[in-house]
Amino acid sequence: MNHNIRVRFAPSPTGGLHLGGVRTVLFNYLFAKQQGGTFIVRIEDTDQGRWVPGAEEYILDTLEWCGLQPDESPRKEGPYGPYRQSERKPIYRKYAEELIANGYAYYAFDTPEELEAMREKYKSDSNPSPQYNQAIRGFMKNSLTLSPDEVAQLLAAKTPHVIRIKMPENETVHLVDMIRGEISFETNTVDDKVLLKADEMPTYHLAVVVDDYLMKISHAFRGEEWLPSAPVHVLLWKYLGWETAMPAWAHLPLILKPDGHGKLSKRDGDRLGFPVFAMNWTDPKTGETARGFKENGFLPQAFVNMLALLGWNPGSDQEIFSIEELLQVFNMNRVHKGGAKFDYEKAKWFNHEWIKRVPSSELVTHLTKVLEAEGINNHSAFPLETIINLVKERCTLLTDFMLQTSFFFQTPATIDIDSIKPKWNDAKNLFFVELIRNWQLTNTWNTDDLHHAFQELAAANDIKPGELMLPLRIMLVGGKFGPGVFEVAALIGKDESIHRIQRALAQLPHPHP
Ligand code: GLU
Repeated sequence: MNHNIRVRFAPSPTGGLHLGGVRTVLFNYLFAKQQGGTFIVRIEDTDQGRWVPGAEEYILDTLEWCGLQPDESPRKEGPYGPYRQSERKPIYRKYAEELIANGYAYYAFDTPEELEAMREKYKSDSNPSPQYNQAIRGFMKNSLTLSPDEVAQLLAAKTPHVIRIKMPENETVHLVDMIRGEISFETNTVDDKVLLKADEMPTYHLAVVVDDYLMKISHAFRGEEWLPSAPVHVLLWKYLGWETAMPAWAHLPLILKPDGHGKLSKRDGDRLGFPVFAMNWTDPKTGETARGFKENGFLPQAFVNMLALLGWNPGSDQEIFSIEELLQVFNMNRVHKGGAKFDYEKAKWFNHEWIKRVPSSELVTHLTKVLEAEGINNHSAFPLETIINLVKERCTLLTDFMLQTSFFFQTPATIDIDSIKPKWNDAKNLFFVELIRNWQLTNTWNTDDLHHAFQELAAANDIKPGELMLPLRIMLVGGKFGPGVFEVAALIGKDESIHRIQRALAQLPHPHP
């Protein structure tokens, strides 16, 4: 165990986990595990207004489904808990006060109305939403403009207030990012972010720095959308006197819409008909469910494999990677900074490849779930592994197993008789009547013997076997699909096979006597 490597995934429980979130988890996980380090999940729930019931559970369940289990999390407390920021509330105020004492932050007593009035007053075409910043702070009600006595009185009277960072003027903040190299930010362009809110809860900016410090985080990987917040965080590390303990940063590239224009959003998924969440997510307010990769029939192995290649490349042509293989070859140096286009067809390709690779014994649980969801419960009477072996090449999604296997377990509700009719004739009818008789008498009910009997009978009737195969397939399976017909017949048994042929014959024209 390498105690120096500690990485964290720090989601806010505001809803379902977007595939970009899972990719962040994956890169954290791979980096930590490769080096014998610790992977931590910390729930950043200090913004009570955005807190959504069920989201934390959902996030932790998603990681379980993906097999990316944290070593420390709210479900598995470690030495640096609690792992939910709301439960750490008493920790943060002291750091905010310390920043004030050292001149890096200040109290702000402005009411919501005063803030609104400020925005109205300074609004212009070039600045449509003025921010509380260096230019404005001097005109507002805060401990920089009020006298120390006034501030002391307001505090003693428990006047609602926030604590804001005092962004320095005309400074350049430097940050070395593992993916982007050296990045610099001008402090004049960043507003005086709130650090502690009126309800005593820290904002994300303060909490993330304090917790990364207290939890001894060595590397912080997060989505590129957090880059604009980075200068605030770097300054806080410095102002709190922790600069030497600051984690190494990496801002992961965005996952883009399939056409490459802009960040992939849930709405793109709805519009283009693919999931963007890892698992189904039901919004507790609207009751609306957004589809997940899991419920769409993805194997976790495929989902994780696909995510690994969104923003990282192995430097070779290899595309299929198990998590064990990723642990061997993953390297942050090969994560690129440009956004990665999401391609659902490619995601399905990964799933197909994984369905073919995963041992059939492992697919049994998936298959039974798919079947039971459709009301098929008699599956235990069948050799499921054999059935999976027969059809898995034909399945791209786990849900495809329904179409590809349901005829084993139940007589097809309808059969595509219209595809048999055009080439149907008396000779074929006679053939199937004889086939029924032949199969009825046979004692050896297995694929080879059934096939053999079929061919001999076709030859005796002078009909090409090829002309009889499609009708037989449709009779047994219901349509023009499925694995080998004699394998199907062998598995569904004599009575059922004969019953299906008879049922089809009854729907086809009979010879005239
Ligand atoms: N709580 C932030 C989020 O929701 C975490 C950003 C970070 O990792 O610093 O993504």
